Amino acid sequence: MMGTPLIEAKNVSRRFSRKLDYAEKIARAFGANLSEKTVHAVDEVNLAVHSGEVVGLVGESGCGKSTLGRVMAGIMPASGGEVRWKGRELAGLKGPDKRQARLAAQMIFQDPMSTLNPRKRVIDIIGEAPLVHGLVTRPALRDYVADLAQRVGLDPSYLDRYPHQFSGGQRQRIGIARALAVKPELIVCDESVAALDVSIQAQILNLFMDLRKEFGLTYLFISHDLGVVKHICDRVVVMYLGRIVETGTPDELFSNPKHPYTRALIRELPSISDRRRDFTPVKGEIPSPLHPPSGCHFHPRCPHAFARCQQERPLLQETGPGQASACHLNDEPSPAARTGTFSTVS
Ligand code: SF4
Repeated sequence: MMGTPLIEAKNVSRRFSRKLDYAEKIARAFGANLSEKTVHAVDEVNLAVHSGEVVGLVGESGCGKSTLGRVMAGIMPASGGEVRWKGRELAGLKGPDKRQARLAAQMIFQDPMSTLNPRKRVIDIIGEAPLVHGLVTRPALRDYVADLAQRVGLDPSYLDRYPHQFSGGQRQRIGIARALAVKPELIVCDESVAALDVSIQAQILNLFMDLRKEFGLTYLFISHDLGVVKHICDRVVVMYLGRIVETGTPDELFSNPKHPYTRALIRELPSISDRRRDFTPVKGEIPSPLHPPSGCHFHPRCPHAFARCQQERPLLQETGPGQASACHLNDEPSPAARTGTFSTVS
């Protein structure tokens, strides 16, 4: 895609440090080999999202996708690199520009109950932010919120109820209306349908797509479930242990995945047509981000790993139109590697 992205992560890293507790400090004073631990949740990631796009960000739990989503939504600072909103560095924005960018990127989370104030009525939950930011006057608030409620499929006569009086799907609709209330351009959905029943999931996904058309929204759709993103995204980005390992259109990525990790994830997808029940899980456990493997983080689990994989980080490189992957096999393809006859690094 050409033109300035709506939002762009450039070499973005996010680290979390865990300081030593009191007992550990004493142990260190007596000679124990203890030091502060650092988790590299996001490791020099580049990701551009253009206006109107729906980008799916997928990977196993703990791969850093939610952290990257929070950093791009502006609710968590990056430890390194920069996030650009319409070409301007987010961290450098001041005054009304900063406020505007902050409102224009909203986030919807997995568990609406934990993000909705149980003591507030729905009208106040949805109406608070637009009122505070002067997007609506108090006399016009009820009509404003009722209109939003209707657009997300909530009965406007329920506006004076509390969150616990709604079902899970309805609470998610309240969360969506709250995000829409400040007229966002980008919505970051963090596992927003993961906690819902399958039939409700489909309704909420359809709602997201209807709202995309109605309001011209852009989505960064974070999910551990490739099956969900396959049908709604224009582009899919696969993350593993803080890094992007593959990106492409759903058609390309699902029919011709280039990265061994993507292939393993796709093999896990249940298939109704062949009634397959013996899914092949990605072999091994995701390594601790406290001690990520050297070189390619995926090498301890990769059936094609060879010596270079332990030493050198593979960079994302184009493998076809609109598709890129980060794997040394892009430079050193061999039939043996492709068919998995390389010995696995132990
Ligand atoms: Fe990583 Fe090497 Fe496997 Fe490619 S072949 S995914 S670089 S371990």
